[in-house]
Amino acid sequence: MDKGAFLERAREGAELIKMHIELGHTIRLISHRDADGITAGAIMAKAVAREGGSFQLSIVKQVSEDLLKELAEERREIYVFSDLGSGSMELIKNYLDFATVVVADHHPPEKDSFSTDSHVLVNPVPFGANSVRDLSGSGVAYFVAREMNPDNRDMAYIAIVGSVGDMQEIDGTFHGMNLDIIEDGRKLGILEVRKELRLFGRESRPLRQMLAFATNPELPGITGDERNAIEWLRSKGFDPDRHYWQLREEEKKKLHDALVLHLIKHGAPKEVIDRLIGDVVISPLYPEGDPRHEAREFATLLNATGRLNAGTMGVAICLGDDGAYKKALKMLEDYKREQIEARKFIIQNWSMAEEGEHAYVFYAGKNIRDTLVGIAANIAINAGLANPEKPVVVLADSDEDENLVKGSARTTEKALKKGYHLGEALREVAEKLGGEGGGHAIAAGIRFPKGRIDEFIKLFNEALKRQVESENSGD
Ligand code: C5P
Ligand code: C5P
Ligand code: C5P
Ligand code: C5P
Ligand code: ZN
Repeated sequence: MDKGAFLERAREGAELIKMHIELGHTIRLISHRDADGITAGAIMAKAVAREGGSFQLSIVKQVSEDLLKELAEERREIYVFSDLGSGSMELIKNYLDFATVVVADHHPPEKDSFSTDSHVLVNPVPFGANSVRDLSGSGVAYFVAREMNPDNRDMAYIAIVGSVGDMQEIDGTFHGMNLDIIEDGRKLGILEVRKELRLFGRESRPLRQMLAFATNPELPGITGDERNAIEWLRSKGFDPDRHYWQLREEEKKKLHDALVLHLIKHGAPKEVIDRLIGDVVISPLYPEGDPRHEAREFATLLNATGRLNAGTMGVAICLGDDGAYKKALKMLEDYKREQIEARKFIIQNWSMAEEGEHAYVFYAGKNIRDTLVGIAANIAINAGLANPEKPVVVLADSDEDENLVKGSARTTEKALKKGYHLGEALREVAEKLGGEGGGHAIAAGIRFPKGRIDEFIKLFNEALKRQVESENSGD
């Protein structure tokens, strides 16, 4: 990608923010409700405070007309969106034409170029970046903050936590400008990247649970069965109650070898084995055993706050508030439990999925919370329920509106080679159904009226079919 041109755009955004701070204007920050958005919001908040400015921050689910109406009524001089907004530049222009707007985001934008004198889109995708690998929303916020003041490099770890929250290193390694952030953090001594076991729970879970709850990848015969996990660990000479962080280097190596062998024996494909051991980011800013010590556990803690509409508590955690951290630990337990229940539900009821020519659609009703459908769709792929070359959509009743369903679509790199772009497909289908949809090629979301699920299945399959056909026709 053209980093220089991207950084130039980040500098434009940074200059606008600094100018408004100098004028004494409150910087209105709006960020997305997942770990990536929460860390992005925290980075912008700290950057503004560092320049002596004041800010007001909201963590939101999405950019809607209702939200823009409320923001417009506030009549601020400047609005800064992070980890959202790229798909809504026109809408934002319509409502906030009287103000300066900076959008720091990584979602594929509506149009490649968007800039007026007062509305600036800072987004790496038009400069050649892959939106789900090369930079996250927190990463874009980081570069804007770094252009505001080089001291903001001290937020490199928080930026990487957001990136991990978005699964930017899903294949086991970091890519693109994530590597520049890691380099900044390393130089400052605030983060370290190790080649370790990438399963969730390095800090907070005993080994028996780290293995029994493994979903990414799944461990055949062990995932979902703690007794088997305990037996397996004992048979390899490990104490099931110890934590991964407590293992000596040679013990870690022995565990890695045993797990790789286990996967090979069960016929796991190479991509799955490759991502079991890979980049794990830890930070000496926090003690061993603390979920904030490792990026994936930190991100999960933030996701837990976001999903319970306590995203600003997540921001406080990123800014070092220990009280907020202690409160969030309680939310984390519920969040993990709900994920385990969602996994059970989808595995037991997968036969209800409608398999079309190009996609599976699974409607979970009220059995899976609408904020967990993305995780459920990935589980359907990782647990081998779905053919990995066919995208999966999981739908659930909306928590907010009885008449709507919320859906998440997920797929694999292999499926993308056929020409699928889930974000474009859902955007197109949503328009036809009177809903809203969009996102990345590999991961996207939608909301639409509940009565139209059958139409959705048909339209989504047709949209994907057209994508494959136009790929094959060579354009
Ligand atoms: O997909 P979405 O944002 O809803 O995912 C929320 C969190 O769940 C992310 O931090 C992602 O890393 C994690 N996740 C996961 N394994 C899955 C699906 C999601 O770790 N199979
Ligand atoms: O909100 P947005 O960009 O911030 O989030 C990206 C989403 O894509 C997350 O839910 C993440 O879990 C998902 N993802 C995925 N598979 C990938 C990469 C990202 O499901 N390979
Ligand atoms: O990474 P892995 O899939 O093994 O994670 C185990 C559990 O933790 C999964 O249910 C996953 O969705 C969740 N998780 C999460 N957010 C992350 C990473 C993992 O919610 N950032
Ligand atoms: O909602 P879900 O987690 O499935 O969204 C997956 C990705 O699609 C996220 O990056 C999210 O921000 C994006 N998305 C979007 N527009 C929508 C819905 C989701 O850009 N209307
Ligand atoms: Zn993001």
